Amino acid sequence: MPRFRQILDTMAPYTPGKAVAAPDGRSYKLSSNESPYDPLPSVVEAIAEGARNIHRYPDAGAVKLTEAVAERFGVPEAHVALGAGSVTVAQQLFETVSEPGAEVVYAWRSFEAYPLLADLAGVTSVRVPLAGEDHDLDAMAEVITDRTRMVFVCNPNNPTGTAIRRAALESFLDRVPETVLVVLDEAYREYVRDEDVPDGLTLYRDRPNVVVLRTFSKAYGLAGLRVGYMIAQEPVATAVRKTIIPFAVNSLAQVAAIASLAAEDELLDRVERVVKERTRVRETLIGQGWTVPHSEANFVWLRLGERTLDFAAECAKDGVAVRPFQPEGVRVSIGSPEANDAFLAAAARFRA
Ligand code: PMP
Repeated sequence: MPRFRQILDTMAPYTPGKAVAAPDGRSYKLSSNESPYDPLPSVVEAIAEGARNIHRYPDAGAVKLTEAVAERFGVPEAHVALGAGSVTVAQQLFETVSEPGAEVVYAWRSFEAYPLLADLAGVTSVRVPLAGEDHDLDAMAEVITDRTRMVFVCNPNNPTGTAIRRAALESFLDRVPETVLVVLDEAYREYVRDEDVPDGLTLYRDRPNVVVLRTFSKAYGLAGLRVGYMIAQEPVATAVRKTIIPFAVNSLAQVAAIASLAAEDELLDRVERVVKERTRVRETLIGQGWTVPHSEANFVWLRLGERTLDFAAECAKDGVAVRPFQPEGVRVSIGSPEANDAFLAAAARFRA
């Protein structure tokens, strides 16, 4: 029997959202915060065109996509680093800071990949409980020690949907020593409508330790292709680029991401429709008697405690897959109006 790393004995594997089907065949996957829309024809065309070259390795430096991201956000190319999904960029960030005794601080509950990546990197997790459904930034600042190498701030937070406003985030950043990386995980940035929630790109320029992490998986609808990026000052971006597995971002992901940036207006129209549905879903739930935290993302959060799995089972009867986090609550992605109606019907039944 080969000998494995001990941490693997206690590590819980990542459990992705799975589809379910109702007896009548209906199936609505609201468990992974994906875009409910089919890919844009222009993006599918770019992928088909790119497929002609798949006997070649991708551009390892992803030069054109780096240029496109830099141009889109008005940042120097040297500030951009790409990865195979933002979760891989997060893993690369762990690679840049991992050393014996290193600690990472993050809120809990937050994105399930943080503990997994920390364990894999041999970095000790310091989890700070949410205050209600929000980040407790004071408590997070207090646990930073000289062992802390990195802090994740998920804004808006997955799975609660809550977002941190500018004054609170800036005063937190002011309290973090510059030797500690602060990763602002903005996977859901495009869904934010509260103008007081700062765009991380307005914060990193004066702060050499701040990283903005973004993805093409959600608003841009490319979850299946795996492409994400980070923006930070040059020394951080350079360090992170060194940690990429050669050719990690495949050629179809690169062309699809470029085509998606070119079609951004259409994609952001879709985001707007999701935001409208988010309002409708939340208001309907509140009308049914639920407590629903205000969400700035493409999902809503119901704190169900011990009833979490029962609720997920009720939704499954209508073919609605939600994401249960037993025994805390359920995260439900905003989908098409039809999918949202199916979910709302199940939620109403559960309350009755
Ligand atoms: N960050 C957060 C907060 C997320 O919720 C997710 C996806 N669930 C990711 C990062 C990773 O997304 P991807 O790897 O698809 O870019």
